[in-house]
Amino acid sequence: MIEDLFIKIISREIPATILYEDEELIAFEDIAPHAPCHFLVVPKKQIKTINEINENEAYLIGLMIFRAKEIVSKKGYANSGYRLVMNCNEDAGQTVGHIHLHVLAGRKLSWPPG
Ligand code: 5GP
Repeated sequence: MIEDLFIKIISREIPATILYEDEELIAFEDIAPHAPCHFLVVPKKQIKTINEINENEAYLIGLMIFRAKEIVSKKGYANSGYRLVMNCNEDAGQTVGHIHLHVLAGRKLSWPPG
């Protein structure tokens, strides 16, 4: 797994197309989109994988989903549909060591995933 690249986006060390930011979260366009709409919602707190989330941090997941819904709705995909994905560790394809929620929309998404 790559180290925590997203902390460099949060600190503006590397650029990104930022869609939303507040004290706890940031959302930005994925650099290699898998759908016409593909962005990431990321907590600013450094949590490496879903396995590391403790009970006090669990509210962040709700905030991430709420913010994803707000942004994807603003982009116009609320009715056509969208998918929320969080990958955990190697078999799921997690490549960045900082938890993040993928938001995908704008085309028919296959199910089940490959
Ligand atoms: P994972 O595979 O860990 O679930 O998802 C990591 C995502 O981060 C991938 O979809 C990948 O395209 C995206 N990504 C990796 N590096 C960068 C970057 O430097 N900037 C942005 N905006 N996205 C990135």
